[in-house]
Amino acid sequence: MKLSYLFIRTLKEAPADAKSTSNKLLLRGSYIRKVAGGIYSYLPLCSIVLKKIKKIIREELETIWAQEIIIPLLNPQDLYPPVSIKKKEGSFYFKDRSGRTMSIGTSSEEIITDLISKEVRSYREMPLFLYQIIRVLRDDNKAKGGLLRPKEFFLNEIYSFHTSIEDLEKGYKKICEVYLKIFKICGIDMTVLPSYSEDGYEGSKFLIFNELGDELIYVCPECGYMATSEKTDFFISEETFIKEESSPVESVFTPGKKTIEEVTAFMGEEPTSFAKTLLFKTDGKPVAALVRGDRELNPHKIKKLLNVKKLEMADDKLVEKVTGAPVGFAGPVGLGKIPVLADLEVKNMQSLIVGANKGDYHIKNVMPGRDFNISHYGDLRMAATGDLCKNCKKLLEVKSAFKLAEGFKIEDKYTEPMKATFFDEQSKEHKIIMGSYSLNISQTMAAIVETHHDENGIIWPSSVSPFDVIVLLLEPSDEKQKEIALNIYNFLKKEGVDVLLDDRDSRAGFKFKDADLLGIPLRITVGYKAVKEGLVELKIRRKNKNIVFPVQEVISEVKNLFKM
Ligand SMILES: [Zn+2]
Repeated sequence: MKLSYLFIRTLKEAPADAKSTSNKLLLRGSYIRKVAGGIYSYLPLCSIVLKKIKKIIREELETIWAQEIIIPLLNPQDLYPPVSIKKKEGSFYFKDRSGRTMSIGTSSEEIITDLISKEVRSYREMPLFLYQIIRVLRDDNKAKGGLLRPKEFFLNEIYSFHTSIEDLEKGYKKICEVYLKIFKICGIDMTVLPSYSEDGYEGSKFLIFNELGDELIYVCPECGYMATSEKTDFFISEETFIKEESSPVESVFTPGKKTIEEVTAFMGEEPTSFAKTLLFKTDGKPVAALVRGDRELNPHKIKKLLNVKKLEMADDKLVEKVTGAPVGFAGPVGLGKIPVLADLEVKNMQSLIVGANKGDYHIKNVMPGRDFNISHYGDLRMAATGDLCKNCKKLLEVKSAFKLAEGFKIEDKYTEPMKATFFDEQSKEHKIIMGSYSLNISQTMAAIVETHHDENGIIWPSSVSPFDVIVLLLEPSDEKQKEIALNIYNFLKKEGVDVLLDDRDSRAGFKFKDADLLGIPLRITVGYKAVKEGLVELKIRRKNKNIVFPVQEVISEVKNLFKM
């Protein structure tokens, strides 16, 4: 490719609203252009990088016999009851001309499970790995960091189908290994941590640390313990305080104050004096859980304590039925036979301020045991700043990260309700067991830039660089220089090297700056020395080192560098 033909306009400065390094450099290098928050146009250079990442993914997935399919982006919501009835967070929904509700750009578990339920009959057809590389849309209000958290992006989705949980474990391990290999080829060091899917299935998250990231990771600087926020265990003191008898319960009028922020501000009390009451539903029955006002409940810990597989937040209707009050005023007093769980911290609170189960009211001086009973105490909260390591009691550090990929063992989540079954050797029918995985390709590209850059621009690993070599023709009006540069360009092209020729009629300084910014691994400069002394200059972008070579040795030197 010749730069004079390339659709490109590099920028001296990144736009002021670009926060992450990758966003700044990709904008400056004319790889992307912003349309709106989280929405970008991918320009030609970016398109080439993405193509290369997709190629790596395809080649690596082929090694485990995964097969590429393309299933529709349009997902009619009435096709697969009962699984599709619950709307997925982040999906876009709309009605088509016939009034039928469709979702677009959401994950494809329903369509693929339906396909499998109709096509797969026998244990002999599994394990089966199917994947697709698609454009995905997410209705995301956390979009930030440019392509590190976009609303529209390219995604690799893999679905694996198995005859048993044991086989799922094997397949899951295989895909995690493939994902790690893909990231390694792309030059990204990945941190892989155990995690839960939104609905509580076991799996892993593939993370890169970045201060703009929305995933919180707790790290012990002493012993190296590291966990995602939903999986973090921390040191819990066994100490309990002896409480003094508190004054009688008192009602406080808190008109329209529903959130903890609103009530604390209104009452002039600290959030640590409050206990939040949240209602959940498990096996169709309600259960209440209490946590200190400044803490968050961890639903996975509640599930563990209750020893149940499924736990959902109670909907508004159930909250109103159970508490007899509008949402926002739930409390533990007078809930009847509903089990009330409480986080261990609540045990040590002198008295509680809680919702009154009456619209526009809270109550204070509430004491567990005196005013209501707690069925179980347990560690129910998410880790928070200030928590100590469970191993060595050192203060845990909280780091931010972006999730680039994930994999979850979703077992029979879809195959059970959608009746996807197979027959074993004895012709007995069983449920198909599933795994679901995804890798965000656009985010991966941004993560590569976060890892590989310097103050002058991007430094692409050669596996994903849009070109292998950039040839700078410093003086296009000099016919001799032009001829030498074109010869090198044509030779390299013939040898299968992806080469970009900067033949633009612009200043040498500008060309050097652009070459650094674009991040192509090798630069060959053809200037007056090429004509006068037969010498050209080679610069390896990563090493920032210039070497001078006779023109006739350039081809062999490039071949040597690329090990061709
Ligand atoms: Zn530790």
